[in-house]
Amino acid sequence: MSVPRLSEVIAALENLWPAERAESWDAVGTVVGDPDQEVTRVLFAVDPVREIVDEAVKLGADLLVTHHPLYLRGTTTVAASTFKGRVVHTLIKNDIALHVAHTNADTADPGVSDALAGALDLRVVRPLVPDPTDPEGRRGLGRICELDHPVTVRELAARAAERLPATAQGIRVAGDPEALVRSVAVSGGSGDSLFDQVRAAGVDAFLTSDLRHHPASEAVLRSPLALLDAAHWATEWPWCELAATQLDEISDRHGWDLRVHVSKTVTDPWTAHAASAHPSPATTLLTSASRPPSSSNSPGAPN
Ligand SMILES: [Zn+2]
Repeated sequence: MSVPRLSEVIAALENLWPAERAESWDAVGTVVGDPDQEVTRVLFAVDPVREIVDEAVKLGADLLVTHHPLYLRGTTTVAASTFKGRVVHTLIKNDIALHVAHTNADTADPGVSDALAGALDLRVVRPLVPDPTDPEGRRGLGRICELDHPVTVRELAARAAERLPATAQGIRVAGDPEALVRSVAVSGGSGDSLFDQVRAAGVDAFLTSDLRHHPASEAVLRSPLALLDAAHWATEWPWCELAATQLDEISDRHGWDLRVHVSKTVTDPWTAHAASAHPSPATTLLTSASRPPSSSNSPGAPN
């Protein structure tokens, strides 16, 4: 067993998620770290926020790998009086390196959406938006998946709620909860720029996060597509487990003395959810079988 240098571990990570495959607007790669420092413990997390850095300190990690960048745009200060500067200070004071794999991990094979599909036992067929530079057509954004045993939208939402890490939001559904799902597009992170590709793919459902009113409303009006909206953090967290497994295998091959951890700290910003006191008319309509007879007499109630 040998203790790897940071430069060796970073080279392995770069091999999995080459920086040049990141979007041009993205900020990936090593943010903090001395290439010569030794690495014995690695922590994977979605967000490089203070509570995750504190967790890395407590764990005795030498390297923190996150999906989201610390600085997406340039900065002129890392003063500890700023919230991101405090993160930089804490990392450097504790000899912890920070490495980011963002859109280069989204489009990797396997990548963020493979991990999301895997968490729900969905069989990945192909990328939703293939990377044109990949001759094998395996890399790209999002994934088209098939279900060996079709389930209803309601059942798929329940599966997502059960298999993805718990958040205040849970899973929101748009469309008919009783519709049957044979194929589903999944995209970890914000997915509402992908509606055109999802419609073109002809799938029954789309699982992603951060869906806004207008694109979601238009999508369900234009087609029988069902939408499943999870918390952004929850859709990307399965990648941390996948990435940790990948690094573990590399470490074994090299004979490295390396311990790899995944943070279970919830960094989704939403902390509570209050369900509406009364079901909306649409909800009543969808569960019409159990609707009390009195509600059918309501003025203007849909038939
Ligand atoms: Zn994200």
